[in-house]
Amino acid sequence: TYYLSQIEAHNSKLNAFLEVYAEEALEKAVLVDQKLQSGTAGELAGLVIGIKDLLCYENHRSYAGSKILDTFKSTFSATAVQRLLDQDAIVIGRQNCDEFGMGSTNENSAYGPVLNFKNTAHVAGGSSGGSAVAVQANMCHISLGTDTGGSIRMPAAFCGVAGLKPTYGRVSRWGLIAYASSFDTIGPMARQVDDLALVLKYISGADGQDSTVVSPNEFKKKKPTSGKRIAYIKEMAEHPSLQLDIKKAFFERLEQMKLKGYEVVGVDFPFVEALLPTYYVLTTAEASSNLSRFDGVKFGHRTEVPTKDLLDMYKKTRDEAFGEEVKRRIMLGTFVLSADYYDAYYTKAQKVRRLIKEFTQSLLQEYDFLVSPTTSSTAYRLGEKTLDPLQMYLGDLFTVQANVAGLPAISIPMGVDAQSLPMGFQIMADVFQEEAILNLATELV
Ligand code: GLN
Repeated sequence: TYYLSQIEAHNSKLNAFLEVYAEEALEKAVLVDQKLQSGTAGELAGLVIGIKDLLCYENHRSYAGSKILDTFKSTFSATAVQRLLDQDAIVIGRQNCDEFGMGSTNENSAYGPVLNFKNTAHVAGGSSGGSAVAVQANMCHISLGTDTGGSIRMPAAFCGVAGLKPTYGRVSRWGLIAYASSFDTIGPMARQVDDLALVLKYISGADGQDSTVVSPNEFKKKKPTSGKRIAYIKEMAEHPSLQLDIKKAFFERLEQMKLKGYEVVGVDFPFVEALLPTYYVLTTAEASSNLSRFDGVKFGHRTEVPTKDLLDMYKKTRDEAFGEEVKRRIMLGTFVLSADYYDAYYTKAQKVRRLIKEFTQSLLQEYDFLVSPTTSSTAYRLGEKTLDPLQMYLGDLFTVQANVAGLPAISIPMGVDAQSLPMGFQIMADVFQEEAILNLATELV
């Protein structure tokens, strides 16, 4: 009831939840209570979670923040959601996000922007903005978000909470409405790092529905090291787009780590400029393919305007119901996949992805962690970036590397800037090194 009262008090302004399952959650709470008394309750008994609108939950709506899926109800639950339910967690509601996860500020939702609880003139960050604000404003204990290029970490940083993007292949994507399948991950957001670890434990692991997931005993064991060697990419830490307060806080963090006995080294990374182009070429290509399933026939919205034939129906439906950013990405993706440009863009980006991945992993052979600020600035004012998509994409500079390389990364709070807006500190490590990341994060917060 505490969380419900917080939702009651703040949600109409913040717009973090699109739907609240109040009655259902209360009924479940009574049941869980009985189970607790009879000693049959699951390990997460009574844990109140919210789920991003991109995740399916049996017999509940999932709109992916889009008009094209309004009226869509899922017949099954995402594996990650189901595993939490199996441990008696309680789902309190469905959280607002950028349409299909495409955005960095949660202003691309067809259901309106999410406002930052710290200062409501500012954005929440995206695309898991509703999930971040729900935790920030204590409207639930934990949120499940998704991260394709920073969508967990960026809003976590903007809202002053913690968010973990797991290794690609650690958490099943079954039941996650796909944006860019080779980048998409599901992960937890919370106020406490411990809670991230708790949830990760249950949502991880092999699943017959997603062949890319690896079971825990296959997780690569890292060669034994001191666990104390930390690298940061010089070009990123000195990047001209970096807000001065953030740069200062970041270097102060590094100094603190040195005092604690960590070895901190600035390293070169020759692909900084290639990160965003590689990410946006490949994700738009995958998105254009994934989103072809929304045609007015199989799910959700269909145009009511009279149409000439099937093709016309597809066109009118998609034209009416996809937002501007989604259309932009479908067009970009279709372009980079088109016969004449495929090799110049798509194939090339695949090759560069391989280089980025190999170089990043070689750094992580030598160092235990790669750290950076999570974002180059604190939360933008509402509307500040919406007119210029390229400016918007630039904001993802620090987060996309983990997705391009498939690596785990966390964002934890790093104090506030001169305007009292939260800043984020990012820690990345080699594949399946979440435990090491979480341990270091616990030490730093
Ligand atoms: N801002 C990035 C994008 O729009 C990240 C989105 C995400 O991680 N879902 O692609």
